[in-house]
Amino acid sequence: MIHFVGAGSGAADLITVRGAKLLEQADVIVYAGSLVNPQLLDYAKEGCAIYDSAKMTLEEVLEVMIPAHQAGKAVVRLHTGDPCLYGAIREQMDELDKAGIDYAVTPGVSSFCGAASALKAEYTLPDVSQTVIITRMAGRTPVPEREALRKLASHGSTMVLFLSTGLIPKLVEELLAGGAYTADTPAAIVYKATWPDEKVFRCTIGTLEQTARENNITKTALITVGGFLGSEYERSKLYDPTFTTEFREASK
Ligand code: SAH
Repeated sequence: MIHFVGAGSGAADLITVRGAKLLEQADVIVYAGSLVNPQLLDYAKEGCAIYDSAKMTLEEVLEVMIPAHQAGKAVVRLHTGDPCLYGAIREQMDELDKAGIDYAVTPGVSSFCGAASALKAEYTLPDVSQTVIITRMAGRTPVPEREALRKLASHGSTMVLFLSTGLIPKLVEELLAGGAYTADTPAAIVYKATWPDEKVFRCTIGTLEQTARENNITKTALITVGGFLGSEYERSKLYDPTFTTEFREASK
């Protein structure tokens, strides 16, 4: 069994207990060196063979993992955040299927969760937004036209943008073209969420570009947008004394 493991968004102690155990037992680790905190490799035992996939192709990754697995070694493929988002795991899993090799996925703390913790924010505020749109600007990797940012932006929901800090002028144009946000809609850039050098920049859609430029934010950052960053919201029904739930009777 080959293990795909989510490393979490940065801080080495944010990996799951299961993920840490798998790293400790691994004979071979292939990690996404462009984004995974190298401190996570401290979990590896002495003699573990470690490969940085940032310098490798899919074929090279498979050429390391498959023979190691067939030789009876414990193999971990370590991805940043949670592997299910922009992780390129599907293409690896499909090749393992072809080779008849079993695998499992251990989730991790995605950077969109790490960013919320850095912001001390709740993405889903009653009366503000009950929906989080996770997307990206089309770059070298295209985005299907039906998911064009301006269409998604027309909902005015909470939005978290991955992989888009190099495209902010276009991103701002698209967000505003949706018609639901304005230049005054709150926004934030979270750089290296949960890393020791994490930085949070609160701004508005209108000042996003300037904020990124002045702080030299070009990568390893998320852009979040929406009323959840503002001060207006309704309190929850769940903890409302006049509201009965499955576990609690309303008081009179
Ligand atoms: N699977 C990862 C995302 C990989 S795509 C996850 O769940 O987080 C890589 C992009 O994720 C980066 O370009 C950046 O936009 C974002 N990212 C990854 N780690 C980050 C962090 N610690 N802080 C802010 N953004 C991060």
